[in-house]
Amino acid sequence: MSDAPQFITILGSTGSIGQNTLDVVARHPGRYRVFALTAARQDEALFEQCRAFQPRVAVLVDAAAAARLRERVREAGLAVEVRQGAQALCEVSEAPEVHAVMAAIVGAAGLAPSLAAARAGKKLLLANKEALVVGGDLFMDTVRAGGATLLPIDSEHSAVFQSLPEDPASWDRRVDKIVLTASGGPFRTRAPGTLAEVTPEQACAHPNWVMGRKISVDSATMMNKALEVIEARYLFGLAPERIEVVIHPQSVIHSMVQYRDGSIVAQLGTPDMRVPIAYGLAWPERIASGASALDFATLGTLSFESADEARFPGLPLAWSALRGPAGTTAVLNAANEEAVAAFLDRRLRFDHIHAVNDATLQRVSPSKPQSLADLLALDEEARACARQQVTRLQT
Ligand code: NAD
Ligand code: MG
Repeated sequence: MSDAPQFITILGSTGSIGQNTLDVVARHPGRYRVFALTAARQDEALFEQCRAFQPRVAVLVDAAAAARLRERVREAGLAVEVRQGAQALCEVSEAPEVHAVMAAIVGAAGLAPSLAAARAGKKLLLANKEALVVGGDLFMDTVRAGGATLLPIDSEHSAVFQSLPEDPASWDRRVDKIVLTASGGPFRTRAPGTLAEVTPEQACAHPNWVMGRKISVDSATMMNKALEVIEARYLFGLAPERIEVVIHPQSVIHSMVQYRDGSIVAQLGTPDMRVPIAYGLAWPERIASGASALDFATLGTLSFESADEARFPGLPLAWSALRGPAGTTAVLNAANEEAVAAFLDRRLRFDHIHAVNDATLQRVSPSKPQSLADLLALDEEARACARQQVTRLQT
């Protein structure tokens, strides 16, 4: 590596992954500089980040929030250019000065800027799993055509990537299957009959990880694991039948690869997202992340159980969506985003999230999306259908 610092764009810098990324970046000021920081509308938080990291550009999607940030940046005398709107997210992802892009927006809203980074051949650090679930083959084709380097930030996929041989051409031949671990979330042992009463606060209280609200609800329904099965299928190119899920409540083993000879390679660590973030940033080097290592003397028991489909009916949707026509995973994602938003807004019961996802999958049939525009149209069609289902189920 040359001694010049690498410039990084962090999409979604005010979120949980964004803040953890800045924490790692701050530990290595000679190695990384921030080119751009972005958020939807959190101008207060973004201003504080601008003060601390002095990016060249800051983007807010919301116009009023961007105007407030521009004013505060001017008053503080910071040399930060404030831009507004979704198109600016793409501009700061493909800018020639940028070496790496951390994609940490939540939801399909992150698809266009992630594709812009892929097309521009950047090192693309992908936390935004929904972008890959929606983009599917088109996403992976764009990565290849653009000559981008795609590195997974999701802890399970980072674990799999760390456990795979270096040569991707050998994966299909040497690997028997990928085993994704799941904590089981906050309701692993709760009586299934009581899930109708779950509140957003209960669903967002994850036992092992502190995360944004959307992924916290996904962890409680295990739709997060369903999205991760789809993510693994596209990232690693193995057939869906060769991806398995096992519940491991301690979140110490972050995932595993089983080889043809029966050998299993796993990656372990404390549940701290700074580890996969530091790995992605420095790959193939290793740098300090700020996370503490496991202490085997106090670790205690590691346990495993299979996922109960009656409790977590959303999980099998991953394999059925992958068996469906191209675009089916985008329909599932759109339905789930709408259902989770309605649940967080107290307009939908927790156990009806699955009902919305299932009904939307049955009603929307994708017609082979070929472009970003096709995908966004399909996403909108599925959202409209999911919103109808939410209304139908409202009590
Ligand atoms: P978060 O809600 O904490 O942060 C989301 C960020 O995206 C914020 O900066 C927000 O301003 C921005 N954003 C939201 N909607 C936007 C829009 N429409 N346009 C532009 N920007 C928008 O979320 P998070 O927990 O940091 O998760 C981010 C992504 O990383 C998700 O896809 C999630 O599944 C994935 N992920 C998160 C974790 C974790 O530990 N938090 C772990 C693995 C994967
Ligand atoms: Mg994960």
